[in-house]
Amino acid sequence: MESLEQIQNFKGKYPRQLWYLFFSEMWERFSFYGMRGMLAFFMVHELMLDEKTANLQYGATQAFVYAFTFIGGLFADKILGYRKSLFWGGLLMIIGSIILAIDPKEFFFLGIGFNIIGTGFFKPNISTMVGNLYKEGDPRTDAGFSLFYAGVNLGALLGGYLCIAIGKSELFENFIPKNLAWNVAFGLASIVMIVSLLTFVRTQKSLGPIGLSPLMKLQANKRKIIEVITYVGSLAVIPLVILLVSNPGYTDMFMYIIGPLALIYFLVEMIVNYSWAENKKLIAAMIFIIFSIFFWAFFEQSGGSLSFFAADNLDKNLVGLELDPNGVNNSANSLFVIAFAALLGILWIWMNKKKVEPNTTVKFGLAFLFLAGGFYVFYYTKFFASAEGITSLNIFTLGWLVITFGELCLSPIGMSVMTKLSPQKLQAGMMGMWFLASAYGQYFAGILGANIAEASENSTNLEKLNVYADGYKQLALYALIAGVILLLISPLVKKLMGSVK
Ligand code: GLN
Repeated sequence: MESLEQIQNFKGKYPRQLWYLFFSEMWERFSFYGMRGMLAFFMVHELMLDEKTANLQYGATQAFVYAFTFIGGLFADKILGYRKSLFWGGLLMIIGSIILAIDPKEFFFLGIGFNIIGTGFFKPNISTMVGNLYKEGDPRTDAGFSLFYAGVNLGALLGGYLCIAIGKSELFENFIPKNLAWNVAFGLASIVMIVSLLTFVRTQKSLGPIGLSPLMKLQANKRKIIEVITYVGSLAVIPLVILLVSNPGYTDMFMYIIGPLALIYFLVEMIVNYSWAENKKLIAAMIFIIFSIFFWAFFEQSGGSLSFFAADNLDKNLVGLELDPNGVNNSANSLFVIAFAALLGILWIWMNKKKVEPNTTVKFGLAFLFLAGGFYVFYYTKFFASAEGITSLNIFTLGWLVITFGELCLSPIGMSVMTKLSPQKLQAGMMGMWFLASAYGQYFAGILGANIAEASENSTNLEKLNVYADGYKQLALYALIAGVILLLISPLVKKLMGSVK
């Protein structure tokens, strides 16, 4: 077995294990985004829910998925270790997607329940393992996370496109009988999840001691009992999750409770178990987590208000190609991430060598400036509108390009810095907190989007365009303010971070 030293002393830009984790995460995200991409449509067209209810329930599933990453992270840190957590999570995701493949209408919320808990155990822990491949202070870490992030988006792009197209019988319709199309689409999500898990099983051999149980000192028997209780416990909460997700009113309640509880938990950990030097770093991590909530709340307009904007107010012309504006809204961002993630990673390494690499706070600040720029471009589309309120898909897509650079300065960098700022025993929990912020982002995104949508009710298409565009201008302004604040506080946060860059 390779030692941690040997793994972390790798030559070249990336450790070889990163590629295995890249593929395991790519297939998992294929399955996750494949399913996620079908939910809202399936609820409206197959479960016959009205659009408002479907929107709320879709939002609830996303909020719960990310909220459970916090709990999955905690159990990994305290009981299972990253590897067993990830394996268990993957298994639950496979079961969830098979349930959906068998009868998506009948077992809809049961399948979703398995997937929520499964993702909670899988997602934070694979990201934490990426961080563990690097020694403290290794300047190649951010580049590693950027590459890993390209894997995330490759999976998102493929799954997001293929599953819904199969479900709607727009792809392979000659081979797949129409009445089985949704079963096949959910079935595809389960097959790729099996591939993800098999990839991970092979990866394990090369991970040395990374991700092993934190309870190694306990007797094997005792450890087994605690692990089994965790597995059974996680199965037992599935009915509760189903109840919560299927009643949107409960989502608010859950969101009011889980965040403050998580904060209290970390405060207690900080006071009881860690020194001031460690706590300063944890405070810095919290600052990044809080800013990320705002970032995701704006960014996640993508699935909500921006998809209505795309459907009603955009033409179908992207650099001369005739394309569906919703398809472009869904996939342009992933394509840009795939195109630029590794490049940006290499730029960070190059800047580091020249000693001009911006620190994490400045990168976060830049992320908000790009976000502001992108939303300003969305606003600017209104000056190109026809009398019918139809404007340019080209300019809209340019907005996504700008936002993607912002995402690349925040999302992979945020994961990377979580692993750098947390003490070893709190790593996955902290990564879970990072994703919990996404849960709040998703939640607030829905509320923001609903406000914009409400203001444009009963108006003409042109008026609607103006209301949406003005809403995006507001968001651009708020993002600009957040970016400037981050740049201003960067010296202070740098102090808190100590040796971490
Ligand atoms: N798109 C990224 C992923 O799926 C980031 C998700 C998030 O943090 N909101 O991993």
